[in-house]
Amino acid sequence: MSLLMIALIYGSPLALIAGIYLFKRHRASIRARSILDESVEAGLTEPSSLHPVIDPALCCGAAACVAACPEGTILGVISGKAALIDPTACIGHGACAAACPTNAIDLVFGTQTRGIDLPVVTPDFETNIPGLYIAGELGGMGLIRNAMTQGHQAVEAIGKSRPIANDGNLDLLIIGAGPAGLAASLTAKSLGINYQVIEQESLGGTVAHFPRGKLVMTQHVDLPLVGKIKFTEVSKERLLGFWHEIQKTHELNISFGQAFVGLEMHNDGFLVETSIGTIEAGTVLLSIGRRGSPRKLDVPGEDLPKVVYRLSDPMQFADCDVLVVGGGDSALEAAATLAEETTALVTLSYRGDAFQRARRKNRARIDALVASGKMKLMLKSNVQEITKDRVRIETETGEVEFPNDHILICAGGILPTGLLKDMGVEIVRKYGQP
Ligand SMILES: Cc1cc2nc3c(=O)[nH]c(=O)nc-3n(C[C@H](O)[C@H](O)[C@H](O)COP(=O)(O)OP(=O)(O)OC[C@H]3O[C@@H](n4cnc5c(N)ncnc54)[C@H](O)[C@@H]3O)c2cc1C
Ligand code: SF4
Repeated sequence: MSLLMIALIYGSPLALIAGIYLFKRHRASIRARSILDESVEAGLTEPSSLHPVIDPALCCGAAACVAACPEGTILGVISGKAALIDPTACIGHGACAAACPTNAIDLVFGTQTRGIDLPVVTPDFETNIPGLYIAGELGGMGLIRNAMTQGHQAVEAIGKSRPIANDGNLDLLIIGAGPAGLAASLTAKSLGINYQVIEQESLGGTVAHFPRGKLVMTQHVDLPLVGKIKFTEVSKERLLGFWHEIQKTHELNISFGQAFVGLEMHNDGFLVETSIGTIEAGTVLLSIGRRGSPRKLDVPGEDLPKVVYRLSDPMQFADCDVLVVGGGDSALEAAATLAEETTALVTLSYRGDAFQRARRKNRARIDALVASGKMKLMLKSNVQEITKDRVRIETETGEVEFPNDHILICAGGILPTGLLKDMGVEIVRKYGQP
């Protein structure tokens, strides 16, 4: 057998395998580039918190980080180098950095152009204001397990550093009932601390707003009164159900629908202003996360119960006249979900003349629904007044009024940094630093 024949017999399969591999890589690279272009086009280029930065000199393009990311296509390999292609969807798991075989990934806060403000806290989670503590994502440390661990540790530190008065006054006010606040309240109860939690929305914090059926990745955590929680992969619904059960079983003292507005020092403690009155407390733990509070329209009637700021159960709007307000991805996704999955009569109102800050795929969904008559679109429009069964909107051609059962406002959030600064909490701004 000639050398040529041998080369052909053994070389052809290898060449075929290499060809298929290179073709797949090329296709993945094109797909990743397209996602990155879409993020740039929609202005969604700034990660909200901890995120990976990739050193191209060290990156070998193995794509281990892409495979390790549990949140989907957030990283991609473009022209042989890993890149953060969907930056705003990154939640800072850090699984990518752990998986990188060449240590090319660092996890940092902020970017070189946009800093992220983080409160400065002691190892016991106390801020520069004595008696004011911060735990969970607000302090920069994301993820459910970290938030729970910090909530627990912060209250343990409070219990050690401050004598429990047992005089009937509130020792501790916990603000926010997300994972950090939940763990904090269990710890407070187990230590006999006279505590109260206030929460502007519902139990579970950010987790309650995850998409339906989302698989939550977390790790074991040990909590007072409950013991070891062994979830690693669990549906959002199951996790929330479990937390609700804990709240009920241990009769946790949580006041829902009560928002924190600000605080001042008072009698060795704090006078805390909330949306429904003031509360006096010896110490305060802020566990309000980083999502902030929903931005309001500030129009008459906005306080009616038919006005909501997040879409939790689309089916509750079936057969109703629903107005969705906003022009970002969350408004477009909510409006499209309602029009596609329910029998609601959906109108989408946005003050701009085009959806510049939304992803292409969401814009296409809206275009298709409007073209098929399943949704009404009102660009350059502003809500003026909301009444029990109607809404009045200003448009370019004058004011219009029409029947309305529900209004969903998706106008973004007011980040908590302003609140912290107003209180005098020391802040550090990070520009792409760990
Ligand atoms: C899309 C997405 C997917 C994620 N997936 C995962 C995952 O799989 N695994 C994981 O570990 N982590 C995940 N995370 C991160 C995780 O959700 C957060 O790190 C975690 O919820 C932080 O907990 P927290 O208690 O600090 O804050 P939050 O969960 O944000 O809770 C804060 C609470 O404070 C309340 N609050 C805020 N302001 C006020 C106020 N002024 N007055 C009263 N109450 C207030 C809020 O309503 C909220 O209930 C994900 C995040 C996102 C956005
Ligand atoms: S930090 Fe987490 S969410 Fe972000 S890219 Fe890495 S693995 Fe994905």
